[in-house]
Amino acid sequence: MNADEQLVVDRCEELLAEHDPKQTKPADVLGAQYDAGLAWVHFPEGYGGLGLSPKLQNVINAKLTAAGAPLPYGRNPIGHGMCAPTIVTHGSDDQKRRYLRPLFTGEEIWCQMFSEPGAGSDVASLSTRAVRDGEEWVLNGQKVWTTLAHVARYGIIIARTDPEQVKHKGLTMFVVDMQAPGVEVRPLVQATGEAEFNEVYFTDVRIPDSERLGDVGNGWSVSLTTLMNERVSIGGQVHPRGSGLIAVAMRTYAEHASAAGPAARDELARLWIDAEVNRLTNIRASQARKQGTPGPEGSVGKLAMALLNQRIMNFSLDVMGADAMLYPSGYPMSRPTTAMDLSNPQKAFLRVQANSIEGGTTFIMKNILGERVLGLPGDIRVDKDRPWSEVPRS
Ligand SMILES: Cc1cc2nc3c(=O)[nH]c(=O)nc-3n(C[C@H](O)[C@H](O)[C@H](O)COP(=O)(O)OP(=O)(O)OC[C@H]3O[C@@H](n4cnc5c(N)ncnc54)[C@H](O)[C@@H]3O)c2cc1C
Repeated sequence: MNADEQLVVDRCEELLAEHDPKQTKPADVLGAQYDAGLAWVHFPEGYGGLGLSPKLQNVINAKLTAAGAPLPYGRNPIGHGMCAPTIVTHGSDDQKRRYLRPLFTGEEIWCQMFSEPGAGSDVASLSTRAVRDGEEWVLNGQKVWTTLAHVARYGIIIARTDPEQVKHKGLTMFVVDMQAPGVEVRPLVQATGEAEFNEVYFTDVRIPDSERLGDVGNGWSVSLTTLMNERVSIGGQVHPRGSGLIAVAMRTYAEHASAAGPAARDELARLWIDAEVNRLTNIRASQARKQGTPGPEGSVGKLAMALLNQRIMNFSLDVMGADAMLYPSGYPMSRPTTAMDLSNPQKAFLRVQANSIEGGTTFIMKNILGERVLGLPGDIRVDKDRPWSEVPRS
């Protein structure tokens, strides 16, 4: 064990001795974890980290969860996966001090507002406008597919601040108070029957300039921090061997083994191996990542995970036969407080269809791999040298 690993192991032991997870409120354990620099170990000291290699986070998580400590990610997935890395990289000291701790403990949920009805894969073409008015910005426009906006206290938003620049240049990122006057959140129901995500409308919403993330006009490079972390957050998580959706498939097969036959057993073995290959590839990518924002390996993991999850759930519903047509939770519209409820195979089957869309579609991941990893010629981009205001749009 090297000195850094010894340091985090010692800190975990101190944390557990002073805050026994079995007798302490989850938010208090998580708060103490943040204060000990064990929340995101690669973040700077004072902001939930110790400035060490991100691979030590696996050591910390394994040690803390084995002692019954809560895992914070599920309750605030967008906050953890996308907003925190963006704030720590581009936020002011005041923003980091104010936002990171309650984000980590789950006392304040966050959302990410990038996609619009006319701007998804090509998010840099977005239309939501922020216009400067003294020390404030006035925001007008609409975002869509905003996961957990209905429970979010804050969100990060990318808006157009200079329409006369080319599309990637006239953008700026802000933190938005989701309770500010003029913010309206409306549910959007998914195939699962749940409204995990929403439409968000902004009418003359005032944002103090101190809530800008990064420089004016630099929003595209700030948003790349968010997007690269999003892909790792969706596709690059390292779970214990045999857990997650492959465990659902194993359980489903065991319950229906007599009807399933040897071909199904063969297919299940193939899926288990592929899940393990994916897991090991993610471990290798996380070991290679020394600090900071991940590179295109995040897109590889995300692409592979989306396709694998869909194969696993197709298999699971096939072995269930007619039972697969029953939907155990009924179909009333609900607004869950967490994303990605995979608690039963039928719901999981419907939910994983979104894996190849959310966080960048499978085609977009292939474009990134082609251009940035394989060095193939770029996609045709006819609007990249024209001011955004002159680009025709519907
Ligand atoms: C469950 C879920 C949760 C989401 N949560 C959020 C959120 O919290 N915040 C947020 O901002 N967004 C969120 N999104 C939105 C998501 O990022 C977009 O849906 C995604 O980027 C695709 O954009 P689009 O839906 O506008 O599709 P489009 O961009 O219109 O794409 C339509 C089709 O065209 C293909 N296509 C587009 N451009 C190209 C190209 N250049 N080359 C090849 N094919 C191309 C796409 O692959 C796709 O098949 C969420 C989406 C889902 C499904």
